[in-house]
Order: sequence, then structure tokens, then C-alpha cells
Amino acid sequence: MLIANFDRVGRFHMGSKCLARSKCSAISSEKDKAVDEPLVGLDFERGQRGHRLIPRRLPISHLNGPRSSLSPLVCDIGKVFYENVEIYRFRKEIEKFWYLVDDLMGAAGSKLEKVLGDQFPEGERYFGLENFGNTCYCNSVLQALYFCVPFREQLLEYYGDGKNPGDVEENLLTCLAELFMQISTQKKKTGVIAPKRFVQRVKKENEIFRGYMHQDAHEFLNFLLNDLVDILEKETSKDPAGSLSPPEKMGNGPHGGQVNGAKKEPIVTWVHKSFQGILTNETRCLRCETVTARDETFLDLSLDIEQNSSITSCLKNFSSTETLNAEDKFFCDKCCSLQEAQKRMKIKKPPHILVIHLKRFKYMEQQGRYKKLSYRVVFPLELKLTNTMEDADCEYSLFAVVVHVGNGPNHGHYVSLVKSHNHWLFFDDENVEMIEESAVHTAFGSAQEYAGNTDHGYILFYESLTSNSS
Ligand SMILES: [Zn+2]
Repeated sequence: MLIANFDRVGRFHMGSKCLARSKCSAISSEKDKAVDEPLVGLDFERGQRGHRLIPRRLPISHLNGPRSSLSPLVCDIGKVFYENVEIYRFRKEIEKFWYLVDDLMGAAGSKLEKVLGDQFPEGERYFGLENFGNTCYCNSVLQALYFCVPFREQLLEYYGDGKNPGDVEENLLTCLAELFMQISTQKKKTGVIAPKRFVQRVKKENEIFRGYMHQDAHEFLNFLLNDLVDILEKETSKDPAGSLSPPEKMGNGPHGGQVNGAKKEPIVTWVHKSFQGILTNETRCLRCETVTARDETFLDLSLDIEQNSSITSCLKNFSSTETLNAEDKFFCDKCCSLQEAQKRMKIKKPPHILVIHLKRFKYMEQQGRYKKLSYRVVFPLELKLTNTMEDADCEYSLFAVVVHVGNGPNHGHYVSLVKSHNHWLFFDDENVEMIEESAVHTAFGSAQEYAGNTDHGYILFYESLTSNSS
């Protein structure tokens, strides 16, 4: 079905035209692209005897993107086709092709540059990231982190801190810093970058991400931030007088720092300063009324979700009082026995960057497998955090959303929506487009279970507007 094909040296042929990576400028305009686009796939046609499936050629761009102009059913057929692991190689070819197109388009100034025109933010770069085979979980998170400006600035500062690249052993932090540096210093304003070294490092460090299977973007973010923290902590303890911030007094982790009075202050790195908040877990013994408070640090909040709800209501549930009873009793130190108790979680110190993970992948015990919850969960662009211990409400502004596209937990695609200089951008691996702010709403989810739209906000990134972190 695929008309276009690659020859052995990786050149792409379409009809009589050859789109070799160099020199050739066969594709120069949208119109040319539409005409030359290779066709593939199935379409749904209204036959004389009603609806029936007729194999018909479809432009591949319709298979590769959540915002197709085709009907949801056709999109779904296309997506199933696109997501099928069996045709993985074929999908790679499509991606390679678009990468090539972007490259060629880039030479003449990208579409995005034309759309933004004079409004293209000074010094900013909008680069797509090449997909190395189901690495969209990584690309989507990288884009969200890149546009987390305080984090990016700190990382670039760290990179520029005069450390000889030869002195430092390669690790995830150096690879990430290098990648951000590479993006931010590009001559062109838009284009595509291959995060090859970073992805190789991820696969080297963690076997979970080694295969070509669909991965969980949240698991990746969690692994990445914790690994960065570990690396920085090791560097700080080796070089306490170094350029890193001195350790500050912070709350202890669940088991942290109280072993036999030998208190060890936890190290606070710049990653902590961006993402770390503190939760307080209060437990009230129902017999003696003693309240035990225990602090826990977090880099992101994982929230249970409900159908037709909002982030605010999910946060309320998160902080609601829970009764510990029956087999789940609490050991009260004062009563010296298991007692019924009431427990609640409150945010003691809200983080500067609040990362909210919606638990969309739920383990169904009866079926013995995970299921994706496509629930509609509204997330506001401006969020007020009310369940904090401090009196003042904390206000946050949404700047990135990692979106999971697809119906199931084991396949699908990740893209990200990013706010940069008051514009919203859509990052889909190599592809970067400008979108309307209202398009963000399409990632809220579906009020019905099997709706056509399968784009769901999965990880939300909010930045504090009332910056009191020093
Ligand atoms: Zn008690």
C-alpha cells in the first residue's frame, strides 16, 4: 500500500522525485506537499449498500496526529494501524519521512516561523525531537522540562559552570544538559534535533526503558528527576564547598534523618528547589486523640481521578480524611497498640513547580490487567491550591501538559502541549505547531467511555505565580 519507499541508502522516493537529505528542495510549499504526499491506509466509504470498509489510499499525515480532519472512526482505524507493533518498521519509515520533510522545510523557514512572524520570541528555540522507536514518552517529557524555564536555566547554568566535559563522567544529568544546550544554541529558530545520546543513556541506566515497547511517561519523569537528584547529591557531598547551594533545612522524608539522634540534614539541590514540596501526613488516634504528624517530600503528586471531575476536586479528595480501621489500624505510640485513627494529607510546603500526575492507568483486579481511564478531568489554566497549611492560597499557572493518545495502557502515543511566551505549542516528536489556547481543552478527556477523542491530559506542569521560594 505504501507507494513511497526508501532505497538502500535511505533516500526517499516518491514517484519520480528523489528527496535526498542534502541539496534537494523538492518540497517547498504546502501545496506541493499535499500533491506529493504518499498514500496509505484504509478509509471508510459510504457504499451503495450502506457503510462498508473499502481499502482506499489515505494521506499518511492523517494517520500521524491526533487532530485529523477525518471522522473519529477513520482516525481510530488509522491510529490502530499506526500503533500496531507489527508494523513498527513501517511507522519508523513514516517518521523518517516527516523528519526529512521538516528538514527540507526548515531550510526555507518553517511553517511555525511563518505563523509566529514578528512575534517569534527573542532567543527562544522550538525544536522537535526525533523518535527512535516508541520514544515519545521521553520526547514529550523532555519538551515539558525544556519549557520549565527555571529548570532549564538552572540546568544550563550548571552546564556552563566551567566543568571540563572531559573531567565529568557521562551521566543522565550531563546528557540532559548537553541536549538543552544543543537546543538553546541552535542557529535556526525551529527544526528537529535527535536526542540520541540522552536516549541511549536512559536505556543504559534503566532496563525498563531498554526495549521498543510503549512506556509510561510518568514513570520516566519520576526516574529522571530522581536520578538527577542522586547525581547532584553525590556531587554535593563530594564537594561541599563547591558551587552548589549549601544544604538547607528541610522536612525529613518518611524515614529520614532521625536514626539514633544522628541527624543528617538532607541535601537540597536545584532540582529540589524547582520541584520539591512537602506533604504532612496527620494521623489522629481515635482513642487518645493524639495527633502524629509526619512530613514527606514529593517531586510530583499522583492523584486518583473520577469521571467528570476537576483537578480541584481530585486535590480535595487527596486531602480528605480517611479512617483507618479493621485490618488497617494505626499503631499509636501513646496507647502502645493498634487503634482506629483518622488520617489526612496536607500540603505543608507547595513546590515552585507543581507536577500533577493523573492516575489514568488503573489495575483492574478482576481482569488482571491495566485499563486506561479516559475520564474527563478538567484542569484549569490558573490553579488555586487551597489545601495547604499556609494561610495564603497558592496560585499556579499551567505551562505544560503531557498528553497520552490512545485507548489502552500498553500502546498509544505521547505528545505535549506547552505554553511559551503566551503562545501554546503542540509538540509531537519531530513536529511542532502553534495551537489555540482553547485546543488545550480537548485534552480534558471524555464524558463517555468510548468517545472518538483519545487525547487525555496525563501529566500537568504548573508554575507558581506567588513565588516565595528563595
Ligand atoms: Zn492513641
